[in-house]
Amino acid sequence: MLTKRPRGTNDFLPQDTEKWHWMEDIIKKLCIDYGYGEIRMPTFEHTELFARGVGETTDIVEKEMYTFLDKGERSVTLRPEGTASVVRAFLENKVFSKAQPTKYYYIGPMYRYDRPQAGRYRQFHQFGVEAFGSSDAALDAEVIKLAVDLLNRIGLDKLALHVNSVGCPECRKVHKEKLNDYLSNRLDELCTTCQKRYEKNPLRIFDCKSSVCQEIISDAPSITSCLCKECREHFDKVCEILNLLKINYIIDENLVRGLDYYTRTTFEIIVEGIGAQSAICGGGRYDKLVEQCGGPDTPGIGFAMGLERLLMTLDLHGINIKTSWRKKIFVAYVDNKAKLEAVRTVNIIRKNNISADMDYMGRSLKAQLKYANKIDATHTMILGEEELKKGVVTVKDMEQGSQEEILIDNIINYLTLL
Ligand code: AMP
Repeated sequence: MLTKRPRGTNDFLPQDTEKWHWMEDIIKKLCIDYGYGEIRMPTFEHTELFARGVGETTDIVEKEMYTFLDKGERSVTLRPEGTASVVRAFLENKVFSKAQPTKYYYIGPMYRYDRPQAGRYRQFHQFGVEAFGSSDAALDAEVIKLAVDLLNRIGLDKLALHVNSVGCPECRKVHKEKLNDYLSNRLDELCTTCQKRYEKNPLRIFDCKSSVCQEIISDAPSITSCLCKECREHFDKVCEILNLLKINYIIDENLVRGLDYYTRTTFEIIVEGIGAQSAICGGGRYDKLVEQCGGPDTPGIGFAMGLERLLMTLDLHGINIKTSWRKKIFVAYVDNKAKLEAVRTVNIIRKNNISADMDYMGRSLKAQLKYANKIDATHTMILGEEELKKGVVTVKDMEQGSQEEILIDNIINYLTLL
C-alpha cells in the first residue's frame, strides 16, 4: 500500500455513511421546523478571518490551525470552526440588509491540528446554527432548545446542559481587573501560555487544560459575578424562558468557552458515558463579532455540535439507528441469454425508483442467491430457462422465504403493491 490516511482522519464506508444520512436527515428536518436555512461555505478561508474572528489568544488559533501558503503565496487556513465563515458570508453577501433575523445552519468538515484520540480528530464534522440580527433572550432560548431537541429526536436524553453569561466588554473590563488582582501573586505558577494570557486575555485561563492552572483558577472571581445590569437582566430572561420551555440546565460560572468572540450567553451540552470528550455541543452569543469582522453592529448567537461524537454516543448508549426500510431487488439469471433479460429487468425496476442490482462476477445461480442474501436484498427475481420460456420471473421474498411467479410485463405493478 502506497500510504495510509493522515492521522486523525477517518474513512466512512457505506455501513457508516448510512448512519450519517440518517442523522443528517433528522438535522435537516428539525432545522426546517425551526426556520433555519442551510448555508454552505468554503472549507478554507484567508487566515486572517480566523486569527481576527476566532481570536489570537485562543487554543485554536495559537496551536491548532492547518495554515499554509497557497501557490499564489497567500496564507490560507482549513476552517477550524464554522462561525467565522458564516459571519464572513453574511457580510460578503450583504444579508444584513435583508429582513432580520437571519437563521442559518451548516453541516461539514472542520480541521484542527490536535492530538488525536477517541472522539478527537484532525478532520471532524460539525452541525452548527447561527442566528443574526436580534439580541432577544428568546432567540438564545430558541437556539438552545434546537440543540436539546435534536439530541432528543436522535434518542439521547441523558444530557447535562450548562449555561452561563460571559457579559459584554464592560463586564469583561471589571472582571479583568479583579482577575488580574487575584492572579498577581500566583503568576509564576501558571503555565507559560497562561502567563501570556494574563496580559492579553486572562479569561482564557479558565479553559487551560493544565491541572495547575485549573487548580489556581478554580477559586478566582467568576465573570458572572461581574455582570452589568443589562447583561444580568438578559441572562435572567434566558433562564426564565428555559424554565418556561421545561429545559433542565445547570448554571456553570466557569463556562467561558474556548473562543474569544462570545458575549453574554454561553452554553455547553455534556453527555454521559463518553469519557474525556464528553462535550457534544457548545455555543453562545457573539454580539460584537460581525462588527469586528468589518460589518454593521449586528448581534448573533449559535452553536456547533460534533457529529462523530454524536454517533459515538449513540453506539455507547446502545441506541438503535432506524435507517428507513427500502425495497432492494436482486435479479439473478441462469445463463448468458437470461443475463440480457436481467439487464433489461434491472433497468425497468430502477426507472421506477426502486433499487435493483444484478451479478457482474460470473457467479453460478446458487452463488447469486447467496450473494443476494449478503447484500440484504429484500427480494430476488430469478430468470431461469423455464421462466424465459413462459415470460415470467420467480420472485423470492428473502425474509419470508416464499416465492411466486410474476409475468415480466407485470413486475412494476407487483413491486409497487408490496
Ligand atoms: P467547539 O467549536 O470547540 O466549541 O466544538 C464544538 C463541538 O465540536 C464539540 O463539543 C465537539 O463535539 C466537537 N469537536 C470539537 N473539536 C473536535 C475534534 N477535534 N474532534 C471531534 N469533535 C470535535
